[in-house]
Amino acid sequence: MEKSIKEIISLTKRKGFVYPSSLIYGGFSSSYDFGPRGVLLKKNLKEEWWNEMTRNRDDVFGLDASIIMNPKTWEASGHLSKGFADKLSECKKCHKRFKDLENDQKCPECKGELTPPREFNLMMKTFIGPVEDDAAVTYLRAETCQGIFVNFKNVMNSMRADLPFGIAQIGKSFRNEITPGNFIFRMREFEQMEMQWFCKKEDADNFFEFWLDKRLKWYEGLGIDMKKLRKVEVGEEERAHYAKRQVDIEYLFPFGWGEIEGIHNRGDWDLKTHSDHSGEDFSIEGEFPWVIETSVGVERSLLAFLVDSYTRLDDGRDESSDRKETVLKIDRRLAPTKVAVFPLLKNKKELVDKAKEVFSEIKKEFDAVYDETGSIGKRYRRQDEVGTPFCITIDFDTIEDNTVTVRERDTMNQMRVEIENLGKKIKEFMNNGDFVS
Ligand code: ATP
Repeated sequence: MEKSIKEIISLTKRKGFVYPSSLIYGGFSSSYDFGPRGVLLKKNLKEEWWNEMTRNRDDVFGLDASIIMNPKTWEASGHLSKGFADKLSECKKCHKRFKDLENDQKCPECKGELTPPREFNLMMKTFIGPVEDDAAVTYLRAETCQGIFVNFKNVMNSMRADLPFGIAQIGKSFRNEITPGNFIFRMREFEQMEMQWFCKKEDADNFFEFWLDKRLKWYEGLGIDMKKLRKVEVGEEERAHYAKRQVDIEYLFPFGWGEIEGIHNRGDWDLKTHSDHSGEDFSIEGEFPWVIETSVGVERSLLAFLVDSYTRLDDGRDESSDRKETVLKIDRRLAPTKVAVFPLLKNKKELVDKAKEVFSEIKKEFDAVYDETGSIGKRYRRQDEVGTPFCITIDFDTIEDNTVTVRERDTMNQMRVEIENLGKKIKEFMNNGDFVS
C-alpha cells in the first residue's frame, strides 16, 4: 500500500515524535525537535547501533569528541580548501552540485531546476570569543569522523589496541545545506553514528565487505523490508578524491530512493593528512593504517524505520468502523514505549488502584504508559498507532487471581499472565520475539 510522507509527518507531529522547530515563530527551515516519543525512539535506535558496533565487540572503542575543533582540523581534512568553496549550482531535485554551468541550464543529471551559482561551503562558521575577527573564526563539525582521526593515537594508546581496531562515535554534525528538505531526511543539524575501522592496507578490501555485510544485517535484524533496501556502488567520479571505494545503502522512501548510510574505504588519506598538518606521526611501523568507515545518519535511518513500519490497516481489524487505523509495526527494541497499562474501567477504584500498582512496578523495568480513558479497543488502537508492543489490562479477574491480560500489537493475541511473572514474561517477549506462554 502506498505510504504518504504527509501522513507520516502528521502522525509524528500529533503523537509527539517530531515537531517542526520554533513553530510559534513560524518554524525554522529544516530544523526539527524530537518530542517525548521521538526522543525515546532516537535513544533506542542509537542504543541498538552502539550495542552492535561497540558494546558487543572488544575491538571497537567509543569516543565523544567535541563539536567545535581547532579550525586547523578542517584545513587538513580539506573542508576549507578552495575546491570546497567554489561557485556551485545545486540541483534542487537530486542535490548534485555543479561547477561552471551556463545560466538557465537544467541539471545535467536529472534535468531538475538549479540554484543560481554561489560561493558555497558546507561548513557552518562560528566565532569564538567576543571579537568577530578572522583569528576567532571556527566551525561546527560537518562530520563526526574528524574527531576520531585526531584521537587515533590517544585511543590506541589508552586502550592498548593493535590493528585492526575501530573507534565509534555518535554525535551532532552540521552542514550548511543550501537545499534541505524532505522532512528529517536532509537537515542542517543532524546526528551521525560513525565507526572508523583502522587496519592494514592489505586487509582493507576484506574488511570493507565484512562491514558492509554487517551493516546490512543490522537493518534486516531490526525488521526493515529488505526489498526496500539496496546497495549502490558509487563510481569514481562521484566519490571524494581520497575514497578508494564507496557503497551507499539506500532506502526506498515515499519520495524515492535515498542514502541512509555510506560505507567508505578512505585509504590512508585521513591519518596521513593529519600527520602532515599537525606533525604528529600517526604511522605504525612506517605505514599509515587504512580506514574503512561506516557512516549513518540517526534521523535518516529513523525516518526509514518509521516509514517502513507505518502500516495503514486493511486487515479488517476494526470491522465495526470505516475509520482509518494505523499500526506502527516497529521492532520492539526500537518502540518508544514497550508497555501500556489499563484498568478495564476507570470508575472502579479497585481496578484503578491495582492498575496503578502494576504500572509503577513495570515502569521500573520498561518505558511504560498508563491510560484509563475510552474503551479498551480505543486504548489498544492509541497504542498501536505509536508502536507499543504490549498492552496490559487489569480486570475483575485480576482482583481474584492476580493475573492480567497481555495483548500483543501485531498479532492482537492475548494471554493471561500472573502479575508476579509480568516483568520476566515481558522481557522474554522482548528478547525472543515470540508471544507464547
Ligand atoms: P547526501 O549525498 O545525501 O548529502 P552525503 O553523501 O553527503 O549525503 P555522508 O557525508 O556520507 O552523506 O554522511 C553520512 C550519512 O550522514 C548519510 O548517509 C546520512 O545518513 C547522514 N547525513 C548526511 N547529511 C545529512 C543531512 N544534511 N541531514 C541528515 N542526515 C545527513
